[in-house]
Amino acid sequence: MKNIPELFGTMSFNEKTMKERLPKETYKALKKTIDLGEPLSAEVASVVANAMKDWAIEKGATHFTHWFQPMTGITAEKHDSFINPTDDGQVIMELSGKELIKGEPDASSFPSGGLRATCEARGYTAWDPTSYAFVKDGTLCIPTAFCSYTGEALDKKTPLLRSMQALSEQAVRVLRLFGNDSVTRVNTSVGAEQEYFLIDKEAYSKRKDLIYCGRTLFGSKPPKGQELDDHYFGALKQRVSDYMKDLDEELWKYGILAKTKHNEVAPAQHELAPIYTTTNLATDQNQLTMEIMKKVALKHGMVCLLHEKPFEGINGSGKHDNWSMSTDTGVNLLNPGETPQDNAQFLLFLVAVIKAVDEYQDMMRLSVASAGNDHRLGANEAPPAVVSMFLGDEITAVLEAIGNDEHYDAEAKTAMELGVSVLPKFPKDNTDRNRTSPFAFTGNKFEFRMLGSAQSIAGPNTVLNTACAKVLKGFADKLEKASDFNKALHDLIKDTYNEHKRIIFNGNGYDDAWITEAEKRGLCNLKTTVDALEAYVNPKNIKLYEEFGVMTEAESHARYEIGMENYSKVINIEAEAMLKMAKKEIIPAVSAYTADLANAVCAKKEAVPGVNCKTEESIIAKLSDLSAQFYDATNEMEELVAKAESIENVAERARFYKDNVLEQMDKMRSPADIIEYNADREVWPYPTYGDLIFSVDE
Ligand code: ADP
Ligand code: MG
Repeated sequence: MKNIPELFGTMSFNEKTMKERLPKETYKALKKTIDLGEPLSAEVASVVANAMKDWAIEKGATHFTHWFQPMTGITAEKHDSFINPTDDGQVIMELSGKELIKGEPDASSFPSGGLRATCEARGYTAWDPTSYAFVKDGTLCIPTAFCSYTGEALDKKTPLLRSMQALSEQAVRVLRLFGNDSVTRVNTSVGAEQEYFLIDKEAYSKRKDLIYCGRTLFGSKPPKGQELDDHYFGALKQRVSDYMKDLDEELWKYGILAKTKHNEVAPAQHELAPIYTTTNLATDQNQLTMEIMKKVALKHGMVCLLHEKPFEGINGSGKHDNWSMSTDTGVNLLNPGETPQDNAQFLLFLVAVIKAVDEYQDMMRLSVASAGNDHRLGANEAPPAVVSMFLGDEITAVLEAIGNDEHYDAEAKTAMELGVSVLPKFPKDNTDRNRTSPFAFTGNKFEFRMLGSAQSIAGPNTVLNTACAKVLKGFADKLEKASDFNKALHDLIKDTYNEHKRIIFNGNGYDDAWITEAEKRGLCNLKTTVDALEAYVNPKNIKLYEEFGVMTEAESHARYEIGMENYSKVINIEAEAMLKMAKKEIIPAVSAYTADLANAVCAKKEAVPGVNCKTEESIIAKLSDLSAQFYDATNEMEELVAKAESIENVAERARFYKDNVLEQMDKMRSPADIIEYNADREVWPYPTYGDLIFSVDE
């Protein structure tokens, strides 16, 4: 038995290690930077760098890297060794304060959306001391933010850190009004539940679509999928259980609080949830978790698929972003609390989130938009593309009562008077077990359920934090001027709720009737990534990000361009992969198979003149027809891709890919899947759905 508490965090330069390794004064100075965002002096940085290096070397490191999160959505690293030559021809191992704080990777090959002219290809990375460094595969990884030389954010971390700062400042202002003078910072916390698929490596390697795109582009439905619901929470297969054990241990070494693991709805689908932590750390840790999930799978002869929709007709994978705000004194602001005063404060923060989500629903939708996630949202397996909020009946009743100037009649028949009476105890996560709401209040946190499994959680949290900062700023402005605080507070909660209650929907989010109703309420329904991306360049949203220093107008435009460009690239790769499979595998296979059948017919007729060859002949006829249809669709696809690539304007190109190429993919797929269904499995060039999703069953 391994000693888990001893193992935990051994590869992470965490608080415990810092305390052990750093001189007291250095530790104190670093803590101030971490907790309060105070600048770090050069001397402190150099002491920290040295201690970090010594620690890393003990963990087997020879190199260090600034570990950052460019707009590709994955993490990037460039390794430098610690060695430095000495006069006598030897080397010593060094890491200077400067090397710790700032790096200058060549930024020219990372997406910048036109922010950085090629002649000014330099970008720099800056140490983020609020996230722990760690040793991975012999390299000390230093979490960093990534900016252009003129200071524009080229990554996902920079806006997130800026948004956390913005929210903290405004939330503290509001708390002061409730007489709270001890809080100096409000942090957002996140626990990201992560879904994934595990399939056998050997089966995976035979599928070009999985290799190039992370999802299957062809495949007829297996006899059994998820219809029996026998996988959800089912007993773990040995191979999967071994994998999960290994994964937990790896994650624990990095100080990641991996907590829950279970089988998900689809066969071969699983979930992992960590215990929540500060958003910034949670974001880095989720990136690391995804990387480690893939790595550990390979060790077990499996491949971990993080794509949002690896298999058609089978549930895809998402990620739940559990989000709350809490003070540095340990109070969760989304917890109703025990006293009338706490309750009033809770309701104010609650309506702040309601207003934020309503006013920036387009940005919320945008923050989860990706070509992969487009296959899930609104497809009856994940929340719809319409953003709404679930509050549960009880809280809705409380807000309704306030909104209508009625006294709230709980079971105890107590009257609800803000700042005077106490709210009834809300059972945590009381009703919404159907999980159809995109954004659900679950007792003391919100669960944002629209995220795709492969995406970074930085974007969604940046939007949430910034939108809430904006609303809290408005609240603070108003309340600071009020002569009668309690009355102003009451009116503010009442008016905010009444103005924004259209965003609240407690029913079944998968119901078509809701989409109609949502339209009536004026909620936006941005069906695809291409539609959602427009939110980046909406003046209202540009203004929001500018106001809080989260992103400049140029940065917002850059992200719009990157998003469009990326969308086109993804669809292009999928189309190219389909063409390749069509020409190199499917067409030759069906042609060889029908030729075999034809030869068999000839041989049979020669052996027994007048013999009945109906089976073979009808298969030949059927497959030949389908094959011709498939061949035409393939040629059309080739033309469409060429046309798409000739479109200069990024947005127009993306739209063309969505409207034409994506559609054509269906046209190629449907005859191919029928051919697969009818052809001999021996001649079929790649593993079927059945082979893939039941491949780790032993
Ligand atoms: P469920 O979603 O099944 O009800 P839990 O309520 O236990 O499960 O939490 C799911 C995720 O939410 C976990 O990652 C958990 O750590 C996280 N979580 C719990 N409380 C908070 C909170 N106050 N802020 C952010 N995340 C939280
Ligand atoms: Mg959940």
